[in-house]
Amino acid sequence: MFLSSQATFYTGVARMRETTWIIDSKSGALTVEGLQQSELAQLATDLLAPGKQVNCARPINIEPLRLSSAQAMNGEPSLRVFRIYHNSVVEGPGRRSVLQTAGCLLHCAGCIAVETWPLDSGVEMEVREVVERVLNPEGEPRAGVTVLGGEPFLQLDGLLALMKALKRRGQHVTLYTGYTLEELTSRCDARIEDILALTDILIDGPFVKELSENAGEWRGSTNQAIIYNPTR
Ligand code: SF4
Repeated sequence: MFLSSQATFYTGVARMRETTWIIDSKSGALTVEGLQQSELAQLATDLLAPGKQVNCARPINIEPLRLSSAQAMNGEPSLRVFRIYHNSVVEGPGRRSVLQTAGCLLHCAGCIAVETWPLDSGVEMEVREVVERVLNPEGEPRAGVTVLGGEPFLQLDGLLALMKALKRRGQHVTLYTGYTLEELTSRCDARIEDILALTDILIDGPFVKELSENAGEWRGSTNQAIIYNPTR
């Protein structure tokens, strides 16, 4: 079960801030978004065990991929992948396995994934191997898969092959992009249409630091939209 609720937090000057509290029923871990660790300790120090800081959009200290067992070859669909990790509860509904693609040209100020910007970062892997790693039993129970970047839409052929493979395996897919849905559809590329048709939730738009406060669940900033079934 995945629990998420929103609470209201008041500072000394009666400023209201939205926070998100997520309880992972498998591990019992509580993830709180929207509060500094010291603020959380002030609020609930007598209720909680000592906590640790996590990054705003992913667990910290997850190493980037250095090697793949099957380098892309023989014309098989491939993807340049920066990182794969499991058990994220902040990047789409429920407990998710996450694939972070390599390369981004948008360079949003305040991006927390600067290391993924170079187009030659990460490693190139056959989509078949990517799927195996993303659906590793280590990530179970799994509510779905989240694909984020970098910028996934820089690799249309590989992304489309990945989406098809994940849907064949019955996965719910949340897809992040720094482009807006309008920007993507205006390119009139059949591969983009096909990718969007396989997407359960699209979270679109660049990260805007000035709009990051009170962004709520899943989003980095309030300009981003959460779009269910984007081609419907
Ligand atoms: S689109 Fe995402 S990865 Fe790219 S610069 Fe913006 S926040 Fe960073």
